[in-house]
Amino acid sequence: MDPRLALDLKATVRSIPDYPKPGIVFRDITTLLGDARAFRRSVDELVHPYAGGRVDKVAGIEARGFILGGAMAHQLSAGFVPIRKKGKLPHETVRIAYSLEYGVDEMEIHTDAIGQNERVILVDDLIATGGTAVAATNLLRQIGARIVAACFIIDLPELGGAQKLRELGVEVRTLMEFEGH
Ligand code: AMP
Repeated sequence: MDPRLALDLKATVRSIPDYPKPGIVFRDITTLLGDARAFRRSVDELVHPYAGGRVDKVAGIEARGFILGGAMAHQLSAGFVPIRKKGKLPHETVRIAYSLEYGVDEMEIHTDAIGQNERVILVDDLIATGGTAVAATNLLRQIGARIVAACFIIDLPELGGAQKLRELGVEVRTLMEFEGH
């Protein structure tokens, strides 16, 4: 991406210190989503390398991954698949537990959401420690998906999540980085 454009895009993300707790800087993308040019540009940039190839599904992580994933799926003429917190999906699901800073949580996907060897792009707004995205990767692979790439608007590289995904053989695409947590 053109470095000036990258800076413009970065300026649309609102940073909120000490939210949700002291020491965390919350990177709020609602301001990026609310800016028509920034929203379109982010989606265009995220899908750019994959637009010529075959992508069957875009899988978005609840909840901000739904907003980006729906737009990306439309752009790629692919289907959209939600990965949700446990208990929200109505049909038969596969479930995986993953660690959060305090305790564990579980996420689910419909068992029949993706066909064997279908080509899937995973998306969320931000990758930090990678706990969420690694769990989503394992879940997708369990039901037979081939992951083309994992896309995020924001990377917090000091927390190592993108690196963890790459070590699992997943291509990672991010549009900007922020220091720290
Ligand atoms: P992780 O599993 O540590 O990679 O955390 C990723 C998930 O937590 C994503 O769904 C993000 O939306 C959210 N998240 C983690 N850290 C931040 C942060 N500093 N600002 C905004 N969202 C965050």
